[in-house]
Amino acid sequence: QRTEISASEHRIDPQLLDANAVRVVKTLKDAGFEAYIVGGAVRDLLVGLRPKDFDVATDATPEQVKSLFRRAFIIGRRFRLVHVVFGRGREHETIEVSTFRAYMDPAATDAVAGNEKTAKSEIADKKHVVDASGRVLRDNVWGPQIEDAARRDFTINAMYYDPVTQTVVDYHGGLADVRARLLRMIGDPATRYREDPVRIIRVVRFAAKLGFALEPATLKPIAKAAPLLSNVPISRLFDEMVKLMQTGHALASVEQLRKFGLIGGSLNIFPVLDAALAPAQPNPVREKFVRQALQDTDTRVAENRSVVPSYMLACMLWHDVQERWATLRAAGEPPVPALQQAIDAVFDARIGDISGRGKLAADMREVWLMQPRFERRTPSGAASLVAQPRFRAGYDFLRLRADCGEVPQELADWWEDFHLGNDEDREALLRDVK
Ligand code: ATP
Ligand code: MG
Repeated sequence: QRTEISASEHRIDPQLLDANAVRVVKTLKDAGFEAYIVGGAVRDLLVGLRPKDFDVATDATPEQVKSLFRRAFIIGRRFRLVHVVFGRGREHETIEVSTFRAYMDPAATDAVAGNEKTAKSEIADKKHVVDASGRVLRDNVWGPQIEDAARRDFTINAMYYDPVTQTVVDYHGGLADVRARLLRMIGDPATRYREDPVRIIRVVRFAAKLGFALEPATLKPIAKAAPLLSNVPISRLFDEMVKLMQTGHALASVEQLRKFGLIGGSLNIFPVLDAALAPAQPNPVREKFVRQALQDTDTRVAENRSVVPSYMLACMLWHDVQERWATLRAAGEPPVPALQQAIDAVFDARIGDISGRGKLAADMREVWLMQPRFERRTPSGAASLVAQPRFRAGYDFLRLRADCGEVPQELADWWEDFHLGNDEDREALLRDVK
């Protein structure tokens, strides 16, 4: 049932809106289509947070959307949508525009059963595909807004906001749940987790980010559905893990995942987190290091500073890499090639074949390679180290190690002073080392 909520009731602060998102909605409406800001952005606006990105939903097809904007790109196969791009370079902003989708009743659907490996030709012209467990592999059937709302995950994520008339459209009592601070799955929760097991991770993420509770029926099927996550492609799980780490509540999220058996159990859903938080040989320094890294990440987010995935992953995988690195060096391999081999092995074991792997590994390698260099304080070495563009990341990492007793505090203090000091200070510091 459709409810329209006016500004006096929903109290969205127009200051929190994004000018480009409003522009996209207006352009679509002027062309005679329906268009709304949708999903997570509306949820964030309702709790008074500035959304980090804006999605728009419309009854225009991707081709129609594309034709209305100068720089618009149709992307995605599993889920086709349009990226409308404003600005260039670092300043650019993307508004994601998706076409209203039909709700496909998983029981009544005549969609083909496929899986990731089903021959492309078999599903080539199919717009909706589910696998044997009910997981949706492709979702490109257009439909009315009411159905688009029904296929979204949680009631608080299924509202539409028209910035022109300032009305919120709500079909599932989303506003009431925002006010009650509840995460409630739309439809039958068990079925919805089966359709897309990643919703299990999403509910943990939103609970952590918003501090909302899980409504009992939404909570109940999770433990039983969790093993289905092993059917989800590793690249999608990896992306979800990275997002989870950036909620500003990484530490709390990790505890939740552990409760659901998603870390440290037998499921092997998050090999990186298993490596960091449930290692084969637990040791107190390692545990302290990982917890402190997660705590630091949360602090950074709270201070509106960026959290770089490569840094966070470098923390999570450090001890794994170190162990393998030490073994290879002990076998006579020179340090740098040994580190590269250790990294390759850890990536194969913990991260797998994801896109952007090369760049990620290179950034992590840089931070790790700086560590032994910090421990050798020679005049030329020190000067070149502080001049490195990634010095800051390497130093933060060193500080974390010092905080956990892995290296002396004095070493991190020394580098801080050396970094801040002038030529004279630096000479004095180097003299002190000898
Ligand atoms: P965030 O603030 O982290 O971006 P979000 O709610 O915007 O959270 P997105 O992944 O950007 O999350 O998705 C946008 C919207 O698309 C969601 O709010 C939800 O309505 C819908 N959605 C996304 N993923 C799913 C899913 N797996 N199942 C059902 N609906 C989904
Ligand atoms: Mg979003």
